[in-house]
Amino acid sequence: MKHVAIIGGGITGLTVAYLLEQQKQEHPDELDYQLIEKEERLGGKVITENVDGFIIEGGPDSFISRKPEVMKISEQLGISANVMGTNTTHRGSYVLSDNQIHQLPDGVALLMPFKIMDFARNPIISWRGKFRALGDLFIPARPNQQDESLASFINRRLGNEMLEKLIGPLVGGIHSNNPNSMSLQATFPRFLEMEREHRSIILAILHMKRAMKKRMKQVNPASTNRKPPFLTFQHGMTELTSALEKALSPDSIHTGTAVARIEKGEQTPYRIFLQNGEEINADAVVVTAGANIATKLLNGIDEELAQLLGKIPFTSSAAISLGYRKADLPQLPLGYGITIPVREQRNISAITFSSLKWDHRVPNDDYMLLRIFIGGYANPELVQRDNEHILDIIKMELNDILGITADPVVQRIYRWVQGRPQYELGHLDCVHQIEARLQDHPGLYVAGSSFYGAGLSDCIASAVRGTNTILKELGIESNN
Ligand SMILES: Cc1cc2nc3c(=O)[nH]c(=O)nc-3n(C[C@H](O)[C@H](O)[C@H](O)COP(=O)(O)OP(=O)(O)OC[C@H]3O[C@@H](n4cnc5c(N)ncnc54)[C@H](O)[C@@H]3O)c2cc1C
Repeated sequence: MKHVAIIGGGITGLTVAYLLEQQKQEHPDELDYQLIEKEERLGGKVITENVDGFIIEGGPDSFISRKPEVMKISEQLGISANVMGTNTTHRGSYVLSDNQIHQLPDGVALLMPFKIMDFARNPIISWRGKFRALGDLFIPARPNQQDESLASFINRRLGNEMLEKLIGPLVGGIHSNNPNSMSLQATFPRFLEMEREHRSIILAILHMKRAMKKRMKQVNPASTNRKPPFLTFQHGMTELTSALEKALSPDSIHTGTAVARIEKGEQTPYRIFLQNGEEINADAVVVTAGANIATKLLNGIDEELAQLLGKIPFTSSAAISLGYRKADLPQLPLGYGITIPVREQRNISAITFSSLKWDHRVPNDDYMLLRIFIGGYANPELVQRDNEHILDIIKMELNDILGITADPVVQRIYRWVQGRPQYELGHLDCVHQIEARLQDHPGLYVAGSSFYGAGLSDCIASAVRGTNTILKELGIESNN
């Protein structure tokens, strides 16, 4: 019988546990597992609260349909019927530019401006900036495929205005990351592929648009509908983590106790020391708590490995949900939300109109739910300030930007201190070095948002890779 310890019960740790549970049910004498989570609650950054009928997300509010992992596991868990797309009534997103709210051209929010004419007419980018962006049609592709920062890439292909006013803030919003130091290879490899395959980003978009139209006609000639790019669960993202939790053996789960350190053992390859003084022996360990935690936990096993893990920087951010009576609000722009570039010098980096973006987010049509983001690379300190200070700043800026003066009827702040990995230039090299060091420690694996993508699908994919790797190293044939 092999024992596996899973450190951390976010989406990654829960997925590893779920896969091992399935393995265990098929071969009960072969394998057992224990999941150790510091908090009393499982789910990690996935947290949904129902507050007086407002469905409030503290972390992720969606997953992308382009990557299959979340949908696949939802089908296995029997919860895929609860998956829903963004509300199509008020499509569209906005950006604050010189303190004015402008609608973004279609597709720009996905970093793919499919309607090029809409983009040409849009006032956010000056004519000079638009002509510069067209330069992309003539600029040769970069000959080498070395890593490059997002800022350098966009500057080189589309010009600085596109970077500062559009792409930088949108990407910064997704990754809480600084475009000047953010690795394109690790975050948006698609951009590099587009340049490699089509030489120009604009040509690549035109090519993709044609291919998409052709595909849609083949599926259903009458159809012009696109699959919603973002999906969520009707009752919030914890539907996913709760379903995973329910599928596990309750006696395999230990919450409310943190792992203090991991060492090599004598009876078994690994020995896990918990903060409450208990010890666990394991044949394999999957650490999913984040590279900034793994660096401390694994220092006793391999200093070099710990140093490499410690090289991945983290930043802090917070998501604040405010619920209002509609009657108390001025007329707001209709759409999914507003991105606020760093150059606007605001504390708020984005506002999501959660109840316009998704159905079932408010008690009834008399209410509206907003989600406001602060922190990230440009302003991580703000996250550590007290609630009152944060709410005062947010209310002041909501008044400036949207003319909101009313007090919310519901408010919730979720802080993610040092919770967001930053994929800096050279990130993938560092991850490859970590993987090379792990080769010296069969049965040990690090998984989760710190390595090959922070999206929920990426975390699930990382969990699947991790589970398969340790099973192989334990000599157990995987059924995944
Ligand atoms: C505000 C916000 C919005 C986001 N929006 C989206 C989105 O819309 N779509 C999307 O796909 N992604 C989004 N993400 C990213 C995504 O939510 C995360 O990358 C993902 O949830 C990380 O999962 P994880 O299991 O790897 O890590 P975590 O969820 O961080 O889980 C790690 C767990 O380890 C535990 N732990 C830490 N230390 C110890 C220890 N010593 N011992 C035991 N346990 C420990 C922690 O308590 C935690 O539960 C968002 C993230 C944030 C913060």
